[in-house]
Amino acid sequence: MKEFTKKNRGCLEILAEWIIVFLLIFLGLSWFYVKQNIKTSEACRQPVKYSLGNVDERFGLSKGKALKVILEAESVWENAAGRELFQYDPASSFTINFVYDDRQRQTDELKSLQAKSQNVKFNQQEIVGRYDQLRDEYQQKLAEYKNHETDYKKRLREYNREVDEWNAKGGAPQDIFAQLKAEEKALKKISDELDKEKQEVNLIAEKIRNLSSQEQQLVIQLNQQIETYESKYGVGKEFDQGVYTGSAINIYQFDDMGDLRLTIAHELGHSLGIYHVGNPKSIMYYLMEKQDVDHPKATAEDLQALDSICASQEKTFWEKIKFWQS
Ligand SMILES: [Zn+2]
Repeated sequence: MKEFTKKNRGCLEILAEWIIVFLLIFLGLSWFYVKQNIKTSEACRQPVKYSLGNVDERFGLSKGKALKVILEAESVWENAAGRELFQYDPASSFTINFVYDDRQRQTDELKSLQAKSQNVKFNQQEIVGRYDQLRDEYQQKLAEYKNHETDYKKRLREYNREVDEWNAKGGAPQDIFAQLKAEEKALKKISDELDKEKQEVNLIAEKIRNLSSQEQQLVIQLNQQIETYESKYGVGKEFDQGVYTGSAINIYQFDDMGDLRLTIAHELGHSLGIYHVGNPKSIMYYLMEKQDVDHPKATAEDLQALDSICASQEKTFWEKIKFWQS
Protein backbone atom coordinates (compact mmCIF):
# COMPACT_ATOMS: atom_id res chain seq x y z
CA MET A 1 0.00 0.00 0.00
CA LYS A 2 2.39 2.51 -1.39
CA GLU A 3 0.08 5.39 -1.10
CA PHE A 4 -0.06 5.07 2.65
CA THR A 5 3.63 4.65 3.01
CA LYS A 6 5.14 7.75 4.57
CA LYS A 7 8.61 8.00 5.82
CA ASN A 8 8.67 9.87 9.11
CA ARG A 9 11.11 12.80 9.16
CA GLY A 10 13.90 12.18 11.56
CA CYS A 11 14.33 14.46 14.58
CA LEU A 12 17.87 15.30 13.47
CA GLU A 13 16.65 16.47 10.09
CA ILE A 14 14.15 18.92 11.67
CA LEU A 15 16.78 20.09 14.14
CA ALA A 16 19.29 20.73 11.35
CA GLU A 17 16.72 22.85 9.48
CA TRP A 18 16.03 24.92 12.58
CA ILE A 19 19.71 25.39 13.24
CA ILE A 20 20.20 26.73 9.70
CA VAL A 21 17.21 29.12 10.07
CA PHE A 22 18.47 30.28 13.45
CA LEU A 23 22.00 30.79 12.13
CA LEU A 24 20.73 32.84 9.19
CA ILE A 25 18.68 35.09 11.47
CA PHE A 26 21.59 35.40 13.89
CA LEU A 27 24.07 36.26 11.14
CA GLY A 28 21.64 38.75 9.63
CA LEU A 29 21.12 40.52 12.95
CA SER A 30 24.84 40.49 13.72
CA TRP A 31 25.69 41.95 10.33
CA PHE A 32 23.07 44.69 10.85
CA TYR A 33 24.41 45.49 14.31
CA VAL A 34 28.03 45.60 13.17
CA LYS A 35 27.13 47.77 10.15
CA GLN A 36 25.20 50.16 12.40
CA ASN A 37 28.15 50.56 14.72
CA ILE A 38 31.05 50.27 12.37
CA LYS A 39 31.36 54.01 11.77
CA THR A 40 31.42 55.12 15.39
CA SER A 41 33.32 52.05 16.39
CA GLU A 42 36.02 53.05 13.93
CA ALA A 43 36.03 56.55 15.41
CA CYS A 44 37.38 55.19 18.66
CA ARG A 45 39.91 52.85 17.10
CA GLN A 46 41.09 55.16 14.34
CA PRO A 47 40.52 58.86 13.61
CA VAL A 48 37.41 60.07 11.79
CA LYS A 49 38.62 61.20 8.40
CA TYR A 50 36.96 64.24 6.91
CA SER A 51 37.42 66.61 4.01
CA LEU A 52 36.34 70.17 3.45
CA GLY A 53 33.24 70.28 1.24
CA ASN A 54 31.43 73.32 -0.07
CA VAL A 55 32.17 76.65 1.59
CA ASP A 56 29.53 79.16 0.44
CA GLU A 57 31.40 82.32 -0.44
CA ARG A 58 28.71 84.46 1.25
CA PHE A 59 30.26 83.44 4.58
CA GLY A 60 33.30 85.47 3.55
CA LEU A 61 35.46 82.60 4.78
CA SER A 62 38.41 81.29 2.77
CA LYS A 63 38.92 77.53 2.62
CA GLY A 64 42.25 77.96 4.38
CA LYS A 65 40.63 79.85 7.23
CA ALA A 66 37.79 77.32 7.45
CA LEU A 67 40.29 74.47 7.69
CA LYS A 68 42.27 76.30 10.35
CA VAL A 69 39.14 76.65 12.53
CA ILE A 70 38.23 72.99 11.94
CA LEU A 71 41.72 71.96 13.10
CA GLU A 72 41.27 74.07 16.23
CA ALA A 73 37.88 72.43 16.87
CA GLU A 74 39.51 69.04 16.42
CA SER A 75 42.16 69.82 19.01
CA VAL A 76 39.50 70.75 21.59
CA TRP A 77 38.63 67.03 21.67
CA GLU A 78 42.09 65.67 20.98
CA ASN A 79 43.81 67.70 23.72
CA ALA A 80 41.27 66.46 26.24
CA ALA A 81 41.31 62.83 25.03
CA GLY A 82 45.08 62.76 24.60
CA ARG A 83 44.89 61.05 21.22
CA GLU A 84 44.09 61.70 17.60
CA LEU A 85 40.35 61.48 16.97
CA PHE A 86 40.01 63.31 13.64
CA GLN A 87 42.12 63.54 10.55
CA TYR A 88 41.87 65.85 7.57
CA ASP A 89 41.90 63.79 4.40
CA PRO A 90 41.03 65.58 1.14
CA ALA A 91 39.92 62.23 -0.31
CA SER A 92 37.39 61.51 2.47
CA SER A 93 33.73 61.39 1.49
CA PHE A 94 32.79 62.64 4.96
CA THR A 95 32.63 66.38 4.32
CA ILE A 96 32.30 69.52 6.40
CA ASN A 97 30.20 72.06 4.49
CA PHE A 98 29.26 75.67 5.02
CA VAL A 99 25.65 76.09 3.92
CA TYR A 100 24.39 79.67 3.66
CA ASP A 101 20.71 80.30 4.37
CA ASP A 102 18.44 82.63 6.39
CA ARG A 103 20.31 81.78 9.58
CA GLN A 104 23.59 83.37 8.51
CA ARG A 105 21.71 86.01 6.50
CA GLN A 106 20.06 87.10 9.74
CA THR A 107 23.43 87.20 11.49
CA ASP A 108 24.91 89.27 8.67
CA GLU A 109 21.96 91.67 8.73
CA LEU A 110 22.25 91.98 12.50
CA LYS A 111 25.95 92.71 12.16
CA SER A 112 25.33 95.39 9.57
CA LEU A 113 22.59 96.81 11.82
CA GLN A 114 25.00 96.88 14.75
CA ALA A 115 27.61 98.57 12.56
CA LYS A 116 24.99 101.15 11.49
CA SER A 117 23.96 101.70 15.09
CA GLN A 118 27.61 102.20 16.00
CA ASN A 119 27.93 104.60 13.09
CA VAL A 120 24.86 106.52 14.22
CA LYS A 121 26.33 106.79 17.71
CA PHE A 122 29.60 108.04 16.25
CA ASN A 123 27.75 110.55 14.03
CA GLN A 124 25.66 111.66 16.99
CA GLN A 125 28.80 112.36 18.97
CA GLU A 126 30.22 114.29 16.05
CA ILE A 127 26.94 116.19 15.65
CA VAL A 128 26.84 117.02 19.35
CA GLY A 129 30.45 118.26 19.11
CA ARG A 130 29.64 120.44 16.11
CA TYR A 131 26.41 121.58 17.75
CA ASP A 132 28.29 122.79 20.84
CA GLN A 133 30.83 124.54 18.65
CA LEU A 134 28.15 126.24 16.54
CA ARG A 135 26.11 127.21 19.60
CA ASP A 136 29.19 128.96 21.11
CA GLU A 137 29.86 130.65 17.79
CA TYR A 138 26.21 131.70 17.52
CA GLN A 139 26.11 133.17 21.00
CA GLN A 140 29.37 135.07 20.42
CA LYS A 141 28.28 136.45 17.02
CA LEU A 142 24.84 137.32 18.34
CA ALA A 143 26.37 139.24 21.27
CA GLU A 144 28.73 141.07 18.88
CA TYR A 145 25.84 141.90 16.59
CA LYS A 146 23.73 143.24 19.47
CA ASN A 147 26.64 145.43 20.61
CA HIS A 148 27.19 146.77 17.09
CA GLU A 149 23.45 147.30 16.70
CA THR A 150 23.27 149.21 19.99
CA ASP A 151 26.22 151.40 18.95
CA TYR A 152 24.65 151.98 15.56
CA LYS A 153 21.27 152.92 17.01
CA LYS A 154 22.91 155.33 19.43
CA ARG A 155 24.90 156.98 16.61
CA LEU A 156 21.79 157.10 14.41
CA ARG A 157 19.78 158.74 17.16
CA GLU A 158 22.56 161.33 17.58
CA TYR A 159 22.64 161.99 13.85
CA ASN A 160 18.85 162.33 13.65
CA ARG A 161 18.82 164.68 16.62
CA GLU A 162 21.46 166.89 14.99
CA VAL A 163 19.66 166.90 11.63
CA ASP A 164 16.38 167.80 13.37
CA GLU A 165 18.15 170.59 15.23
CA TRP A 166 19.61 172.12 12.10
CA ASN A 167 16.32 171.71 10.22
CA ALA A 168 14.58 173.55 13.04
CA LYS A 169 17.13 176.36 12.59
CA GLY A 170 16.28 176.44 8.88
CA GLY A 171 19.32 174.56 7.62
CA ALA A 172 22.96 173.89 8.45
CA PRO A 173 25.98 175.83 7.32
CA GLN A 174 27.93 174.27 4.50
CA ASP A 175 30.71 172.69 6.58
CA ILE A 176 28.21 171.17 9.07
CA PHE A 177 26.06 169.99 6.18
CA ALA A 178 29.11 168.23 4.68
CA GLN A 179 29.86 166.62 8.10
CA LEU A 180 26.26 165.43 8.38
CA LYS A 181 26.38 164.03 4.83
CA ALA A 182 29.58 162.15 5.69
CA GLU A 183 27.96 160.81 8.88
CA GLU A 184 24.91 159.70 6.89
CA LYS A 185 27.19 157.79 4.53
CA ALA A 186 29.10 156.23 7.42
CA LEU A 187 25.83 155.18 9.10
CA LYS A 188 24.64 153.58 5.85
CA LYS A 189 27.86 151.60 5.68
CA ILE A 190 27.46 150.45 9.27
CA SER A 191 23.83 149.50 8.59
CA ASP A 192 24.94 147.38 5.59
CA GLU A 193 27.56 145.71 7.74
CA LEU A 194 24.98 145.01 10.43
CA ASP A 195 22.74 143.37 7.82
CA LYS A 196 25.62 141.15 6.81
CA GLU A 197 26.34 140.31 10.44
CA LYS A 198 22.67 139.45 10.99
CA GLN A 199 22.73 137.16 7.95
CA GLU A 200 25.77 135.40 9.38
CA VAL A 201 24.07 134.90 12.74
CA ASN A 202 20.97 133.54 11.00
CA LEU A 203 23.12 131.22 8.93
CA ILE A 204 24.62 129.72 12.10
CA ALA A 205 21.12 129.29 13.57
CA GLU A 206 20.11 127.52 10.35
CA LYS A 207 23.14 125.18 10.59
CA ILE A 208 22.16 124.33 14.17
CA ARG A 209 18.60 123.49 13.09
CA ASN A 210 19.94 121.32 10.25
CA LEU A 211 22.24 119.45 12.59
CA SER A 212 19.36 118.79 14.91
CA SER A 213 17.12 117.37 12.17
CA GLN A 214 20.07 115.42 10.72
CA GLU A 215 20.52 113.74 14.09
CA GLN A 216 16.79 113.01 14.33
CA GLN A 217 16.80 111.51 10.82
CA LEU A 218 19.67 109.20 11.74
CA VAL A 219 17.81 107.89 14.78
CA ILE A 220 14.52 107.50 12.88
CA GLN A 221 16.22 105.57 10.06
CA LEU A 222 18.02 103.28 12.48
CA ASN A 223 14.82 102.58 14.42
CA GLN A 224 13.00 101.74 11.19
CA GLN A 225 15.76 99.30 10.22
CA ILE A 226 15.63 97.67 13.67
CA GLU A 227 11.84 97.30 13.37
CA THR A 228 12.15 95.77 9.90
CA TYR A 229 14.79 93.33 11.16
CA GLU A 230 12.70 92.28 14.15
CA SER A 231 9.52 91.79 12.11
CA LYS A 232 11.49 89.76 9.54
CA TYR A 233 13.33 87.47 11.92
CA GLY A 234 11.71 87.81 15.32
CA VAL A 235 13.94 87.73 18.36
CA GLY A 236 15.16 84.98 20.67
CA LYS A 237 14.27 82.01 18.46
CA GLU A 238 16.33 78.83 18.80
CA PHE A 239 17.87 77.42 15.64
CA ASP A 240 20.48 74.86 14.60
CA GLN A 241 23.91 76.33 13.96
CA GLY A 242 25.09 73.09 12.49
CA VAL A 243 24.05 69.52 11.93
CA TYR A 244 25.72 66.11 11.70
CA THR A 245 23.91 64.07 9.07
CA GLY A 246 25.89 60.85 9.33
CA SER A 247 27.73 61.48 6.08
CA ALA A 248 28.52 65.17 6.53
CA ILE A 249 28.63 68.10 8.89
CA ASN A 250 26.77 71.18 7.70
CA ILE A 251 27.51 74.51 9.32
CA TYR A 252 24.73 77.08 8.98
CA GLN A 253 25.48 79.94 11.31
CA PHE A 254 28.23 81.49 13.43
CA ASP A 255 28.84 84.94 14.89
CA ASP A 256 32.61 84.86 14.85
CA MET A 257 35.53 82.43 14.69
CA GLY A 258 35.16 81.38 18.35
CA ASP A 259 31.49 80.61 17.82
CA LEU A 260 32.35 78.67 14.65
CA ARG A 261 35.06 76.65 16.41
CA LEU A 262 32.67 75.61 19.16
CA THR A 263 29.93 74.73 16.65
CA ILE A 264 32.31 72.52 14.67
CA ALA A 265 33.62 70.91 17.89
CA HIS A 266 30.01 70.11 18.85
CA GLU A 267 29.21 68.50 15.47
CA LEU A 268 32.54 66.62 15.49
CA GLY A 269 31.41 65.23 18.85
CA HIS A 270 28.25 63.92 17.18
CA SER A 271 30.39 62.35 14.44
CA LEU A 272 32.13 60.35 17.19
CA GLY A 273 28.71 59.01 18.19
CA ILE A 274 28.28 61.22 21.26
CA TYR A 275 24.84 62.63 21.97
CA HIS A 276 23.99 65.67 24.10
CA VAL A 277 25.08 66.04 27.73
CA GLY A 278 23.45 68.04 30.51
CA ASN A 279 26.15 70.51 31.58
CA PRO A 280 25.54 73.94 29.91
CA LYS A 281 29.31 74.46 29.82
CA SER A 282 29.89 71.28 27.83
CA ILE A 283 30.78 71.16 24.15
CA MET A 284 27.97 68.63 23.78
CA TYR A 285 25.29 70.71 25.55
CA TYR A 286 22.43 71.12 23.08
CA LEU A 287 22.56 74.92 23.23
CA MET A 288 25.30 77.47 22.73
CA GLU A 289 25.02 79.10 26.11
CA LYS A 290 27.60 79.05 28.89
CA GLN A 291 30.54 77.48 27.08
CA ASP A 292 33.82 79.39 27.06
CA VAL A 293 33.76 80.45 23.41
CA ASP A 294 37.27 81.93 23.45
CA HIS A 295 38.94 79.01 25.24
CA PRO A 296 36.71 76.00 24.59
CA LYS A 297 37.40 72.93 26.72
CA ALA A 298 35.78 69.54 26.87
CA THR A 299 34.11 69.19 30.28
CA ALA A 300 34.12 66.06 32.46
CA GLU A 301 30.67 65.26 31.02
CA ASP A 302 32.00 65.54 27.44
CA LEU A 303 34.89 63.20 28.24
CA GLN A 304 32.66 60.78 30.10
CA ALA A 305 30.38 60.64 27.05
CA LEU A 306 33.39 60.01 24.80
CA ASP A 307 34.77 57.35 27.15
CA SER A 308 31.47 55.51 27.41
CA ILE A 309 31.03 55.50 23.63
CA CYS A 310 34.55 54.23 23.08
CA ALA A 311 34.46 51.77 25.97
CA SER A 312 31.32 50.16 24.59
CA GLN A 313 32.75 50.19 21.11
CA GLU A 314 36.16 48.91 22.08
CA LYS A 315 34.59 45.67 23.32
CA THR A 316 35.04 42.88 20.87
CA PHE A 317 32.14 41.56 18.89
CA TRP A 318 31.91 38.51 21.17
CA GLU A 319 32.02 40.68 24.29
CA LYS A 320 29.03 42.53 22.91
CA ILE A 321 27.19 39.28 22.32
CA LYS A 322 27.93 38.34 25.93
CA PHE A 323 26.68 41.76 26.98
CA TRP A 324 23.44 41.05 25.13
CA GLN A 325 23.01 37.77 26.85
CA SER A 326 23.63 39.12 30.32
ZN1 LIG B 1 23.85 68.66 18.90
